[in-house]
Amino acid sequence: MTHPTCAACAEPAVYLDRAAGEHLCADHLTARVEATFRATLRGPGGLSGGERVAVAFSGGKDSSVLLHLLASLAAPELGLALVAVTVDEGIAGYRDETIAWARTLADRLGVEHRVIGFEEACGSDLDVLVRGREGRACTVCGVLRRRLLQQAAHELGADRLATGHCLDDEAESVVMNWLRGDLYRVAGARPTGGESMVPRTKPLARLPEKEVVSYALLHDLAPELPECPYAHHALRSGIRGLVHRAERQSPGTLARIVAGQSELEGRLRGLLPPADFSTCPDCGEPVLGGPCRACTLLGGALEKH
Ligand code: SF4
Repeated sequence: MTHPTCAACAEPAVYLDRAAGEHLCADHLTARVEATFRATLRGPGGLSGGERVAVAFSGGKDSSVLLHLLASLAAPELGLALVAVTVDEGIAGYRDETIAWARTLADRLGVEHRVIGFEEACGSDLDVLVRGREGRACTVCGVLRRRLLQQAAHELGADRLATGHCLDDEAESVVMNWLRGDLYRVAGARPTGGESMVPRTKPLARLPEKEVVSYALLHDLAPELPECPYAHHALRSGIRGLVHRAERQSPGTLARIVAGQSELEGRLRGLLPPADFSTCPDCGEPVLGGPCRACTLLGGALEKH
């Protein structure tokens, strides 16, 4: 059997873009990922230059690629000051190795790196917080991690919080919002945070995870790391299976879901009656009545900032 060659040159292919039906070699895949990253970063919701950017850096493949691209391409081109922030949720048998890798990569890229622990910020590790209700681990983890990243970005004086969400994550979020019946999120009409909220930017949001992972493998950004023991509990893991099956059957589905959501938001803007948002009495975040989810989970242990 002959090995497929790159659609753009005669080199051996390392990647198949099923939606476009074309193979790419290592150099052309690298060039494509970097071009999409640059275009997204300079597009709506991106960066204009000179910002201090906090980077949500779990140490997984997506955030490792994000930090690498920001440090090696965007920082010199746009004059950015980067600080990588890793949240240590306190998950036995999982976090120590990923944090060790996160420290190694941040050091290799010359990026300032902070690690924030659930234990110091919330009073307990995730393992303790979810003991006896492990099925809720990802919900608790996600709510608290997002809050701690926001707090850290604010305290570090960041103008933006960059996250490693890729196209697959974006498509899964669209489907999750539909399945939860969250009309305000479907319409893109939820307030995204209080006064101290640092706006997010998602420079990988137009890249399929397959391209991000292939880039990580080609650029020494994907060491063997353990998987989180709670991962199979996540609602998202079921949704992921669903959208990936659809993508396999009909390549391009992920991009169509995200494009459709963006068009829907544009058409629904201003049509939804205003929701009765108030502020959380403990931390000041906007909520639909009562304390916010993070304060409810922690009994008000998070600080107001
Ligand atoms: Fe947290 Fe769930 Fe991700 Fe584990 S899989 S790090 S519990 S969100």
